[in-house]
Amino acid sequence: MEPLSYTRLMFLGHFAVGLAAKKLTPYTSLGTLVVAAQLVDLIWPTFLLLGIERVRIDPGNTAVTPLAFEHYPWTHSLAMSVVWAASFAALYGFFRRYPRGAWVVASAVLSHWLLDFLTHRPDLPIAPGFEREVGLGLWHSVRVTVAVELAMFAGGVWLYARSTEAVDRLGTYVLGGFVAALLLIYAANLLGPPPPSARAIAMAGHAQWVLVLWAMWIDRHRVAIRQWQ
Ligand SMILES: [Zn+2]
Repeated sequence: MEPLSYTRLMFLGHFAVGLAAKKLTPYTSLGTLVVAAQLVDLIWPTFLLLGIERVRIDPGNTAVTPLAFEHYPWTHSLAMSVVWAASFAALYGFFRRYPRGAWVVASAVLSHWLLDFLTHRPDLPIAPGFEREVGLGLWHSVRVTVAVELAMFAGGVWLYARSTEAVDRLGTYVLGGFVAALLLIYAANLLGPPPPSARAIAMAGHAQWVLVLWAMWIDRHRVAIRQWQ
């Protein structure tokens, strides 16, 4: 769990979107929704390792993150977010034949850029090769960032818990454990030392897939309550 604290990105806010989305698309697995909301942060560590994108340790870059996002247009530009959203939704639609789910999945992928736009200082590219960078810089304030992310997370957990019910005991415990783990990782993120290297960030980033598996596991032990559509 500890290395996960090296990622230093918006975290709870994206998971909040994945959890809340369940209410809109009850037949979609929480695992899929978490992947959608976190898609570009799940791809980013791989692109870092491959040298396609670059990050530098820079304590004080903003109050919240000690990272300077030097080059990440393929995962984090607005244009590429649209491409990722369309691709992931198309794949989902092809395999699941559930149009409502495909639309929600696409929106969740896009929500990632919007939330990063809110938090990052102006370092988010508009498109690869187009140098204009944007960001509203919520990360300049730790207090406001934490308040916003915790409120979003509480809302997401509440919506997910209310729109599903446990089919067995595990359904409650596995969800409770997930919430606790995310909060611990978040605290470690904020309070821990800066990551030792860009490589450590990339390695830690891959550990996020464990959380995706965990979300899939939760979904196997809970069913949607209102089975509309
Ligand atoms: Zn991101």
